[in-house]
Amino acid sequence: MISRRQALIAGGAATAVVGGGAVAIGAANRETPEPPAPPSTDGKGHTVWRNWSGIQHSYPAQRSAPKDEAELSALLKSGSAPVRVTGSGHSFTGLCTTDGTLVSLDAMSGVVGWEGDEATVWAGTRLGALGPALAAKGRAMANLPDINKQSLGGALGTATHGTGSKLKAIHGDVTALTLVTAGGAVLDCDAKTRPELFSAARVSMGALGIISRARLTTTANRRLRRRVWLQPFEEALAQAEERWTAHRNFEFYAVPFTGIAVNITHDETDEPATERPPSQDDAFLDALKGLRNLLGFSTGLRKAAAKALLGGTKPETAVDEGWKLLSTERPVRFNEMEYHLPHETQLAALKEVVEAIETHRPDVFFPIEVRRIAPDDAWLSPFQGELRGSVAVHAYYRDDYQFFFELIEPIFRRHGGRPHWGKLHSLKGADLAALYPRWSDFLEIRRELDPEARLLNPYLKTLFAL
Ligand SMILES: Cc1cc2nc3c(=O)[nH]c(=O)nc-3n(C[C@H](O)[C@H](O)[C@H](O)COP(=O)(O)OP(=O)(O)OC[C@H]3O[C@@H](n4cnc5c(N)ncnc54)[C@H](O)[C@@H]3O)c2cc1C
Repeated sequence: MISRRQALIAGGAATAVVGGGAVAIGAANRETPEPPAPPSTDGKGHTVWRNWSGIQHSYPAQRSAPKDEAELSALLKSGSAPVRVTGSGHSFTGLCTTDGTLVSLDAMSGVVGWEGDEATVWAGTRLGALGPALAAKGRAMANLPDINKQSLGGALGTATHGTGSKLKAIHGDVTALTLVTAGGAVLDCDAKTRPELFSAARVSMGALGIISRARLTTTANRRLRRRVWLQPFEEALAQAEERWTAHRNFEFYAVPFTGIAVNITHDETDEPATERPPSQDDAFLDALKGLRNLLGFSTGLRKAAAKALLGGTKPETAVDEGWKLLSTERPVRFNEMEYHLPHETQLAALKEVVEAIETHRPDVFFPIEVRRIAPDDAWLSPFQGELRGSVAVHAYYRDDYQFFFELIEPIFRRHGGRPHWGKLHSLKGADLAALYPRWSDFLEIRRELDPEARLLNPYLKTLFAL
């Protein structure tokens, strides 16, 4: 047995050899050029703001980083509209763009205090900084997303989640929060004090106000054992349900044009932490891109080459504290659509998505991510009311992503999906009203708290239909 790294190094060489032949017979090298960047300033001298993937940008007239709730309240009252708050700009949708005021909570970061095992945390805190702060008290967040660059406020804003049938999205572990409204009011809420506001604000995209702090339940800071292994896609599909039951965290990636899935589990362990070699994910992506570039003209050849390269690789394992293991680095930029489906329809939708991509989009090489998320009761939580399963489709940042809307989104919608608020989708207010039973209650609270719509940019107006 060889490691995925050895296979990929060998694969690079093999791809080059096969690719030489492919180029010789006239196959197009599909590497796409760098997309154009917007000017760094606009005509008024305002500096550009861009999201992580580069597809959203704007030129805020004013940028502010308040140090406390008094400064935040003053800013919300006086800042030029639209007033938008951003965390680390990792959302793909146009949630944060503004030519008015862009607020950052970078100066409101860290743990405010503890009540038993619950930590009150400034909303500007990055998840990556929260890990060591909680670990210093022997505690941890129950779960984490794929990366930990997000701010807590941004993660709550879009219902950011990890994977695990018994583990909620991050906002599901919030027990109280403080919201500073467009009018400058500083409102505390929890399940007993202003319960309706608490239900509306936990997932609210900065459309009700700016969350300054949140109280989070924590769990004991346990070590986890991660296992990563490849398996034929059809077998992985057949075993997925039992894996979600058996493991603390389970997710898998369907790798289109390979017939292969990558399974990842995390389970609690008392084993000592292990040394970790550098991540193999980039090399894996690079090899998949190489296969796409050189063999994209023939699905059969591409699948055969992928199976030959990756078929015999051995599982990878690692042990460490959960906050060090659950999130990883994602240096290769991409754009993404993710829908959250009723768990009963998730795998059927996935199969259709893989078939659609393999039939119509030979340019796609990114793996499709498949996760489970426990239910909660926040009004705009995509997981509100029932266990849901997510399916996420990615496109390399240089590549076309219009197929998300034309080819993939209709499948997700037919299977009852709700879109991730921070990832690409085409839904408008009327579509969303049909998916969320408390949609009109949310709109009513929104109007009460922001009657002049100072918090809404053009994108948010399409959601909260004015
Ligand atoms: C590489 C990558 C990996 C990702 N992995 C995952 C994943 O595993 N799981 C997942 O669910 N998502 C994932 N995402 C999506 C990401 O978690 C969300 O888009 C998240 O909202 C980004 O956080 P942010 O701090 O960058 O917020 P931003 O994108 O800056 O803002 C997101 C929203 O939150 C609002 N907001 C920010 N701060 C506050 C505040 N203090 N009060 C009120 N509203 C606020 C903003 O106005 C905006 O509406 C990923 C994104 C990328 C680019």
